[in-house]
Amino acid sequence: MIIAQKVLRNVSLTAHPQGCAEYVCQQVEWVKRQVAQHMDNRYANPNPSAFPKRVLVVGGSTGYGLSSRIVAAIVGKAGTINVSFEREPTEHKTATPGWYNTIAFERIARKNNVFAASVFGDAYAHAVKESAAAMIKKEFGSIDLLVYSLASPLRVDEKTNRTYRSVIKPIETAYEALSVDVSTGMISRTVVEPAEDSQVEETVKVMGGEDWQQWISYLQQEQLLSEGFKTVAFSYIGPELTYPIYRNGTIGKAKEHLEQTAIQLTSDLSSVRGQAFVAVNKAIVTRASAVIPVVPLYIALLYRVMKDKGLHEDCTQQMYRLFSERLYGVGNVPVDSQGRIRVDDWEMSAEVQQAVSRLWDNQHEGSLITGGDLDGFIQDYANIHGFGYDSIDYSADVDPRIVEE
Ligand code: NAD
Repeated sequence: MIIAQKVLRNVSLTAHPQGCAEYVCQQVEWVKRQVAQHMDNRYANPNPSAFPKRVLVVGGSTGYGLSSRIVAAIVGKAGTINVSFEREPTEHKTATPGWYNTIAFERIARKNNVFAASVFGDAYAHAVKESAAAMIKKEFGSIDLLVYSLASPLRVDEKTNRTYRSVIKPIETAYEALSVDVSTGMISRTVVEPAEDSQVEETVKVMGGEDWQQWISYLQQEQLLSEGFKTVAFSYIGPELTYPIYRNGTIGKAKEHLEQTAIQLTSDLSSVRGQAFVAVNKAIVTRASAVIPVVPLYIALLYRVMKDKGLHEDCTQQMYRLFSERLYGVGNVPVDSQGRIRVDDWEMSAEVQQAVSRLWDNQHEGSLITGGDLDGFIQDYANIHGFGYDSIDYSADVDPRIVEE
């Protein structure tokens, strides 16, 4: 079939197998070149011997989870196990990008003589935790690092069969802000109504720390965590402008819960001298971020500023910095006053935020976006689904079930 990009309300319905393989390959190549040639001098040289050797990534098929898997495997030569939720392809329907990415990455890992395998299923389910544990037991004995990188719209509670849905809404008062229509570049005013009380609770249930804690406590009970084990989950803070919908909204409550969970987990892990962290990452275009109101406009403006200042990073560089200079750098892991790792430091610097704010003031309802990098947003969004690569012939008839070498 001919696979074209189909996007409905900022959600891509298709993914391209060869394009996803290209997406993975470009990340791997960047990491390899950076280690060998140190071509980007913004980054310190990593110390691969300090890196973890056996890694579990929950949500490791796209976005930050995939990049952390790539960095662990390519820099530290770690064996990696991914747990992710995917739709498999059929003869006439494409798979999720995560399915294609995983096939492509695991092939590269094998060629590099490092172990890589996946458990495809619902990470919230106990049976999936058992499958991952069985794989850890058989292949690794124990793990040195668990990266928790889920971004999920829902969670089914197995005991009650109730479905909890995560929403991105303000709390108590409606949020009104400018937004951009990605397909036309037109600026409009968006109003997001406040969440109902139950939606706050539900979002915390899906995106808070409860499931992360369940993973750790189950693997600890099964004695699958190595001495000096580390675990990291990801958060976001962002500019004050988005506080009402993000940090002070439903998702912010979930992130607060995640941050509290890290503190609890570090105490639970004392018997293996373990540590749990939340890393606050930069805003990037991923499947999850594209559907958050206001975020595409903010990202388009942020990308313009960070690219112009030579500070732009995507998830590969963020994870490279997280591993080399934070989690496995020299000395103690550097954290902020609330114990969080900050790799959003360049995004949140005063010079970047002031420049974004100036650009934001130039946007007007009913006009086209001015001065932002909407093309960069669109390009990244295409790339994460395997589209927009010059090296791929998108008019070719391909079998969506096969990721060619
Ligand atoms: P993403 O959508 O690219 O990746 C999410 C991963 O979770 C995928 O591998 C997906 O398969 C997996 N997943 C979702 N539901 C699942 C389920 N039920 N069972 C198993 N796997 C499941 O998202 P992302 O943007 O990389 O987000 C990862 C984390 O990083 C989230 O906690 C997010 O809040 C955080 N974060 C994102 C940004 C950003 O700008 N994208 C910034 C800072 C922090």
